[in-house]
Amino acid sequence: GKTIMWFRKDLRLEDNTAFSKMVEDSEFADELICVFQLNPLQFIENSYNHAAFFYSLNSFYEHAKANGVPIHFLYGNLKENFTNLKKGYPDWSKIYFNLDERGFGKERDQKMIEFFENNQIQVYSYQDSHLHGVQEIKKPTGESYKVFTPYFKKWLTMPKRSYQRTVAPLDSLKESSHPLFIEGEKKFKQIIKDIYLPFEYECGEVVAENYLKEFVKNHLHEYQDGRDYPYSDQTSKLSRFLRTGELSIRKVWHALNAEPDSNGRQTFISELCWRDFYNMIYSENPKQKTQEIKEQYRQLQWSYNQDFFERWKKGQTGFPIVDAGMRQLNQTGWMHNRLRMIVASFLTKDLLIDWRLGEEYFQQKLIDYDAASNIGGWQWAASTGTDAVPYFRIFNPTTQSEKFDRYGDFIRQFIPELKDVSNEFIHEPSKMSEELQKKSGVVIGKDYPEPIVDHRKIREEVLTFFKTSAH
Ligand code: FAD
Repeated sequence: GKTIMWFRKDLRLEDNTAFSKMVEDSEFADELICVFQLNPLQFIENSYNHAAFFYSLNSFYEHAKANGVPIHFLYGNLKENFTNLKKGYPDWSKIYFNLDERGFGKERDQKMIEFFENNQIQVYSYQDSHLHGVQEIKKPTGESYKVFTPYFKKWLTMPKRSYQRTVAPLDSLKESSHPLFIEGEKKFKQIIKDIYLPFEYECGEVVAENYLKEFVKNHLHEYQDGRDYPYSDQTSKLSRFLRTGELSIRKVWHALNAEPDSNGRQTFISELCWRDFYNMIYSENPKQKTQEIKEQYRQLQWSYNQDFFERWKKGQTGFPIVDAGMRQLNQTGWMHNRLRMIVASFLTKDLLIDWRLGEEYFQQKLIDYDAASNIGGWQWAASTGTDAVPYFRIFNPTTQSEKFDRYGDFIRQFIPELKDVSNEFIHEPSKMSEELQKKSGVVIGKDYPEPIVDHRKIREEVLTFFKTSAH
């Protein structure tokens, strides 16, 4: 009979749990068909996120084809697509895929598992995307963790699955000319033609592996310190490959295991654990994209000041470190973690703007957008999440800037207006006298904005905000 492999956020052939299992389980007479379903409900058109994902998908499609694995596309309504496929293939009896354990994908998988079973199609589904799935790390009582540190302690003690080398392509992997696939392929080609990114975007399994190797060799052992300085660019940049599945998380783990221990290595491991933690938290709190996890903060009266929000998006707030971060996002589709924390704190605390707006903007712009980590990060910054930063601990953008971009190198890279401002004033250019401004070739209020808020007054406002509108 026919067996289908359904690819989604697992765009690789190597160490792909469902794909390997399918090949392993298959018998000589089986016909194996690989599909990707294009669901317009999941498209966020005109976003970097969308374009980047499709570039990765296209690169996977080519890579798989070159390795004897043809990928076929379905386009449109999910259930309709699979119903029609079953009509065309009455002998289709098994489906393999890697599960999505949270958000839209989780709901989809639950519905589709039921659908397949009702149609006499046997389901083989696996946790593949994380080192530990959402059910694996529990308190001794069986409850889920809400706080990171005890979760991390338990996580460290749990055995991790090993990574498997590429499976060889099989003769039984078939090219199909089902009319649905012909139509799907046309749609896919059209999407690829229409997408655009204003910056270079590298993708594919091979590139992902190179990023991993380069990071482990050059930065892993200094990661503990190096990761905090945006200009030095010492983080792994693996997030984009993990969100598309171009890189197997077990391969990352495997590479770390081959290294001697160090503070850098341990810190990096804890970041991988944050990824699992937020995945689990999102799975436990399905409304988390629109609702505060902490109940007492669901009534907060956030601001929707359009002018401030636009300035934040464009990197025109008058706080150089915030603006440099936002411009990095707009120009490259990625932002350094330290800056994500700074700009998110600035939006939610200095401007008291609804964190959901920030989350959505990041969703549109990030090439590494991952719902669980992004929502987790935003609720952390807004102090509304589980194990979030307490609301009275407010990031000061200027001291953050002095600490993590001491000589203003990063600021100057993204804010050319400030390139001739001296180190003394780079964090607060509005403090320059008129004469100094002239000398530095920048007029504050004209070439570069005055700070849009007075950070010194923020503390009182934030404290009142959280105290009076919290339940
Ligand atoms: P590295 O420092 O090299 O970290 C290695 C890997 O660990 C990352 O690739 C990522 O998979 C994981 N990781 C690191 N930090 C975190 C974290 N805080 N939470 C969860 N996983 C982490 N990460 C995303 O992948 N997608 C997002 O959409 C996203 N949105 C964020 C929004 C906010 C407001 C904040 C504060 C953080 C967000 N993060 C997000 C987490 C983090 O900023 C990125 O994972 C990291 O900057 C990616 O760059 P890197 O791969 O070089 O990271």
